[in-house]
Amino acid sequence: MKKTILIPGGAGYIGSNTAYLMYKLGYKVIIVDNLFHGQSFNHSWAEFIKADFTDNEVLKNIFSKNKIDAVMHFAALIEVGESVKRPRDFYNNNVIKTIKLLNCMVDHGVKKIVFSSSCAVYGNPVKIPLDEDNPYNPISPYGKNKLCIEFALKDYADAYDLQYVSLRYFNAAGANIKERLGEQHNPETHIIPLMLRAIKNNKIFKIFGTNYKTEDGTCVRDYIHVKDLAQAHVLALKYLDNGGKSNFFNLGSEAGYSVKQMIQAAQKICNKEMKIEICDRRPGDVDILIADSSKIKKVLGWIPKYSDLDFILQTAWEWEQKKIL
Ligand code: UDP
Repeated sequence: MKKTILIPGGAGYIGSNTAYLMYKLGYKVIIVDNLFHGQSFNHSWAEFIKADFTDNEVLKNIFSKNKIDAVMHFAALIEVGESVKRPRDFYNNNVIKTIKLLNCMVDHGVKKIVFSSSCAVYGNPVKIPLDEDNPYNPISPYGKNKLCIEFALKDYADAYDLQYVSLRYFNAAGANIKERLGEQHNPETHIIPLMLRAIKNNKIFKIFGTNYKTEDGTCVRDYIHVKDLAQAHVLALKYLDNGGKSNFFNLGSEAGYSVKQMIQAAQKICNKEMKIEICDRRPGDVDILIADSSKIKKVLGWIPKYSDLDFILQTAWEWEQKKIL
């Protein structure tokens, strides 16, 4: 019999790319998503339920009709800057609702979860590249949300025999063009789509701060192709299925690019100049985030294949131009 995976937030950017991969591997995929980020989901390979992922009736119905083997949980509010302005919404969605989901799993005897965490749990890292030994010091409500859930997962694992893998993403980027799976947040806040739209529409791209402690003064980030992220989820579930202990992993490409370097790279891919404006810092941003992903490579055997920056930008550019939903 096919194994069944419940994917809250599976119509989102990383969720949909992972859900597709699970389907390709022969799983039955059930997505619960309220399309909060303004995206559309027109794919026949998943059972799609448009709802809040904590809707009691919806969950009761899913759990009574299916034997859920595992949950992959992506449903979250994601903008770091917004989390500083609206912590209430972020704690409600990312913490309270996720705890409800965990309770529901416990009540229905679902024992495995792969959780979308973030490198934001570390705040300003003590050591770069950033391995899992860095102390937790989140500076944004978003990072604190993710850390709250990681603590809860540990407690639930100890008390209720839940097994989890928490994946601490760095910056997801790029698209799966063939399967029409790319970034479609509304409003968009991420650097790559905003840069590419500035180029495409002859609009201004705003650099948020040039006085960071980096070589050129702009923030440095680690961009990882969404297909490599999706593959890590598959391996995480396989690891749990094989009896692996609950665990957490950093997940990035291990290369760092400043905002100014990203602008150069995007201009090269698009073969066009971008109009730029220097603006104030965005609240919640840290200077440098570059992953040390050795742990996930060693323990899960994860090998990134698509995270070369030019390939990331090429697929993102193609997505921006065609965007067939
Ligand atoms: N950024 C920027 N202008 C923008 C959007 C983002 O300068 O219009 C910067 C942002 O300050 C950060 C980096 O680009 O240093 C990556 O931001 P993004 O929102 O893409 O991801 P985050 O790191 O917040 O998850």
